[in-house]
Amino acid sequence: MSDDPLLTPLQFVKGVGPKRAAILERLELRTVGDLLWYLPRDYLDLTDVRPVTELKPDEVQSVRGRVVDLDARHLSRGRTLSAVLLDCDGSYLRGVWFNQPWMLGKFHPDDYVLFSGKPKRSNGRWEMSHPRIQWLDEQDTSAHGGILPRYGLTEGLKMDELRRIVRNVVEAYAEYVADPLPPEFRERVQLPSLSEAIRSIHLPQNAAEFEAGKRALIYHDLLDFQLALALRRRYWKGRGNAPRLPTTMKIDARIRRLFPFKLTAGQDRAVKEISADLDSGHAMHRLLQADVGAGKTAVAIYAMLVAVAAGYQAVLMAPTELLAVQHWNTLDRLLAHSRVQRAALTGSLTSAQRRDTLERIRRGELQIVVGTQAVIQRDVQFQKLGLAVIDEQHKFGVAQRAHFSTNGDATHILVMTATPIPRSLCLTQFGDLDLSIIDELPPGRQRVVTSRVMGDVVRRKAWDFVRQKLKSGRQLYVICPRVEAAPESPALPQNPDSLLIEEGPEPAAGVEQAYRDLSSGELRDFRVGYVHGQLDRDTKARTMEAFRAGELQVLVSTTVVEVGVDVPNATLMVIYQAERFGLSQLHQLRGRVARGQFQGYCFLFSETDRPEAVSRLNALETSTNGFQIAEADFAIRGPGDVLGTRQHGDLPLRVADLTRDQKILLEARDAAFALVDSGEFDEPHFVPLKVRVLERFQKQMELAGSG
Ligand code: ADP
Ligand code: MG
Repeated sequence: MSDDPLLTPLQFVKGVGPKRAAILERLELRTVGDLLWYLPRDYLDLTDVRPVTELKPDEVQSVRGRVVDLDARHLSRGRTLSAVLLDCDGSYLRGVWFNQPWMLGKFHPDDYVLFSGKPKRSNGRWEMSHPRIQWLDEQDTSAHGGILPRYGLTEGLKMDELRRIVRNVVEAYAEYVADPLPPEFRERVQLPSLSEAIRSIHLPQNAAEFEAGKRALIYHDLLDFQLALALRRRYWKGRGNAPRLPTTMKIDARIRRLFPFKLTAGQDRAVKEISADLDSGHAMHRLLQADVGAGKTAVAIYAMLVAVAAGYQAVLMAPTELLAVQHWNTLDRLLAHSRVQRAALTGSLTSAQRRDTLERIRRGELQIVVGTQAVIQRDVQFQKLGLAVIDEQHKFGVAQRAHFSTNGDATHILVMTATPIPRSLCLTQFGDLDLSIIDELPPGRQRVVTSRVMGDVVRRKAWDFVRQKLKSGRQLYVICPRVEAAPESPALPQNPDSLLIEEGPEPAAGVEQAYRDLSSGELRDFRVGYVHGQLDRDTKARTMEAFRAGELQVLVSTTVVEVGVDVPNATLMVIYQAERFGLSQLHQLRGRVARGQFQGYCFLFSETDRPEAVSRLNALETSTNGFQIAEADFAIRGPGDVLGTRQHGDLPLRVADLTRDQKILLEARDAAFALVDSGEFDEPHFVPLKVRVLERFQKQMELAGSG
């Protein structure tokens, strides 16, 4: 047996024994070390709980009560006020939140909760603004005194019991927890030692001590992760030399002359950051984030022309054939009077054409190539590739691993995404990329008028409006959540313990069904077509073309139109069961009807009155800023849903929560990148930390060879 005290089986700990050990094992707690790392979910602060009648204004205090009423109000200028009324033994107190409409979704009538904050009198009643909330279970409603950590439990294990066992273990063993951080580094970033942190989170004397312990553990967690990202970034940057692609004033002026507009300040900034990277001698790895319609394509074209001017090739890669063709049309139009040699490499080429194109790429004759992922296939060999632009839209991940190289020189890489990603998420998922943001739209762009449509009466009015616009020549998208109507109950993005769902989940609307219903019903006087991802490529392309040309007035589809389709005359959008989509995705979708000179309208059909869903859709009605919407979506639904993937679930984070811990994340990030970039991390006293980082992240982040 090992003589590491932390490996002591729990059964030998004071107050445990074989029977309790078996119960603890159900929580995967086998050793003393396991238990030390079994962190409380939160704590109950009962140090200052008072009856409402004894509250004093403007000091932090707590009250305990039962939820009796939920209320949301719209204030002027799109602001909202959400209120939760507590019955505290017959006296009442109201918790209020400004501009956090999703808060209401967290409460259910008859929940017992503890609000902590500074109360004040308002209209004859006590009110707490943005209180700290704790949900109480039955045991807690009668508990008194002190700071009590709260742990996840299992059958046969009571909270009090577990608290006692943890206390014994912490007192006897916490001192053996080793801290891989060198003491002087810990001092610099003001962290307690790991064993102190573990002690304070399990046995806090007061709330501040619990928070300090928790902060330290979160910091460790995020530091490891950011170190892993910093190592990966260093690996990329250090890998070979990248060609220098200078932007002289002459080149800059020549490129700008091509555009029929002046670049916005946001585009200007992005262009400058990219130019600096391209001329740095190190490979660029940059993520360009911009709201829908902010003009990423122009920035991409600018960068590619810088590469061409320096005598290199550039490639633009789109996620779908449709988008590749669209990018190609834009580019070809802009370069109509230039001598830049260019070609599209898409699935619609004949094999002879494809062979010829590949040959011209190999000889270096083609300077700009636009295509789908086909452009990074093995048989595509660039003679002198300087820059790859990847328009990833929603499909993240591919680009980070895509390798482009020619003649041993690294290629500059620019990834573009149209989904604004909340900053904290960005720093974790893409923390190894540099970031450019365009957060404004070109001048004169109109916001899409967005309204939530619920109930027969309003729905009829919406269709009347749509028909009238169709008659005056505009076109309409109808978006459905599915290809086929779902017969059985679908996976709803709903809170499983919500008590407020009264309706049974209605089946998801399907494209083909909606097409049939509409073309013989509401829209029988119009030319209606449909597309979805399961149709073959020719059918899809033909239908899209018919819609673009105006032969079809209405296009019923899944979210396939979400990414980048550009039909300026389509100014109307109806989204069925809007509550089933992510907010960012809805924002993206409605961006499709803001492309031209006419006012765009988006109708969010939704029959649900789940408060969480309602507040999400309201957020969309009131905000037009994709970055704000992404933050709201992130707060309500968590990271997996924002990205439309579950990638985040793979991250081995122990304590950190990316939504909650953004501030610590930024601190850990700064420290991690400073350590790696300065070379300090390579000094011998950092070896234990490096070992921990590699143990935790080597697999996920493909860090092989990057230490
Ligand atoms: P996205 O960022 O969504 O890919 P696009 O690059 O497709 O946006 O640009 C959206 C529209 O805005 C295009 O029609 C484009 O010509 C136009 N545009 C881009 N930049 C500007 C600008 N600086 N001024 C005016 N219009 C612009
Ligand atoms: Mg685009």
